[in-house]
Amino acid sequence: MQNKDGRPVKYIFVTGGVVSSLGKGLAAASMGALLEGHGYRVTLLKFDPYINVDPGTMSPYQHGEVYVTDDGAEADLDLGHYERFTHTITSRDHNWTTGKIYQQVIQKERRGDYLGRTVQVIPHITNEIKDAIRAISHDVDFVLLEIGGTVGDIESQPFLEAIRQFRQDVGRDNTLYVHLTLVPFIGTAGELKTKPTQHSVRDLRSMGIQPDVLLCRTDRFLPQDIKKKIALFCDVAEEAVITAKDVPSIYEVPLVLAAEGLDQILLKYLRLPRTERKMQKWEELIYRIKHPTDEITIHVVGKYVEFEDAYKSLNEALYHGGFEHRLKVNIRWVETEALEEEGGARLLDGADGILVPGGFGTRGTRGMMKAAEVARQRKAPYFGICYGFQWATVEYARNVCGLSGADSTECNEDAPDKVIYKLRDLLGVEELGGTMRLGSYECELRPGSLAHRIYGSTTIHERHRHRYEFNCLYEKALTEHGLVISGRSPDGKFVEIIELPGHPWFLAVQFHPEFKSKPLTPHPLFASFVEASHRHKLERIGQRTAAGAAA
Ligand code: GLN
Repeated sequence: MQNKDGRPVKYIFVTGGVVSSLGKGLAAASMGALLEGHGYRVTLLKFDPYINVDPGTMSPYQHGEVYVTDDGAEADLDLGHYERFTHTITSRDHNWTTGKIYQQVIQKERRGDYLGRTVQVIPHITNEIKDAIRAISHDVDFVLLEIGGTVGDIESQPFLEAIRQFRQDVGRDNTLYVHLTLVPFIGTAGELKTKPTQHSVRDLRSMGIQPDVLLCRTDRFLPQDIKKKIALFCDVAEEAVITAKDVPSIYEVPLVLAAEGLDQILLKYLRLPRTERKMQKWEELIYRIKHPTDEITIHVVGKYVEFEDAYKSLNEALYHGGFEHRLKVNIRWVETEALEEEGGARLLDGADGILVPGGFGTRGTRGMMKAAEVARQRKAPYFGICYGFQWATVEYARNVCGLSGADSTECNEDAPDKVIYKLRDLLGVEELGGTMRLGSYECELRPGSLAHRIYGSTTIHERHRHRYEFNCLYEKALTEHGLVISGRSPDGKFVEIIELPGHPWFLAVQFHPEFKSKPLTPHPLFASFVEASHRHKLERIGQRTAAGAAA
């Protein structure tokens, strides 16, 4: 397979063993960052072996965050890592599930494309998988492909078979198998254990795949004798047994892997010249992360707070905002329902900033309103995202505009004042899967508004994932009471941003800015929110000191 410049595309296949959640996505993304550091163009894709067509309808508890791409795919959260670590822009072609592959094959079968032949896993499913890999290869030098789950899972077999075949299709020099395993330290024995790695490599080899590189997750550096042992048992060169040590910040992973020589090994095994890696920007970033000048605490009022993966991009975007100003951001999770209780507002004491993220359904929504109300009254920075935008709007309608019956029809279909209601384009559509306003849309900002000042532009593009919207029938009632609508879709139909003049930083957006924030280019809204929160902290300290001096 050649890219459009006529050069052979190099493929790196990343599999995982022993246990899940070892960070295959991060490992793949980090290799992508390193290869970009060598001047290559990369892209990444993920295969998920489950049967759901996409994670869009899966519970955040099951699957973590649903990442949204520019073209409106509801995708695996690892695509977020790919975009944060590299310049690739992912799309629906960058995430395939078993369900989506089969859907494709079944459609072809129904159309008669297979000309009456028996349709089978090999070759029809595996060909579909290989076509998906080729489809994203045209503009890049490298494709890094991650297979979800662990080898040995029954579900991942067709994907493993496809990548096994792929080496035969494009040649040994153009493919590399990287396997991520766990090397646990057993405290009672005082030893690092290689047996799980041996077993998982054996599983991989039983599928016909001999790994070229092993990334070993550990909490300490692997001594040479352990590397030697792993190399011997797994038939991998000793230099290709790489320590993937736990690090405090995920953004250190590329540099940690580079320190182990991983980038040079990738180049060597793929028959590419030994080039110099340019990672200055990452090195500077890590320096900033490790040397903050101050810290702030943001209270995030959400529904799935006990499961951090549910808000992956949001966490990262908040940290990025901190990187911009060299501030350490501490996130304090507040369960929305806890705010609803008597005296619950106390949970927001000490907040330098308050953020209400996206969510669905009725549970906890009064707590979201409470958070917006507290931020409004205490003049603490408030950042509402999607559901946080909708409930800030309802709160304002109820408590400032006197519309006591204001509500969202997501929770109360017969509300007297349907301030948030179902997208008119979708009225009449009751199915849940794939019926939202999804993906990137243009938004025009009101000149002179806070949003305009932050973005420094009057036209922006942001990603969406929502079924309900601001009801423009209430625009007059709300704006007469001071609310400013500072962002709209160019056709004027959708209200995208609201803000409160007279409040130091109160801004809520219908879209999800967190999906476009990167460590090297923090999203302006997050950077500005973090800065405002820091200011709020300093002011409060100032007031306390002044009060102390007066007393
Ligand atoms: N539940 C709201 C809607 O569907 C908000 C969605 C979200 O926060 N992503 O419109």
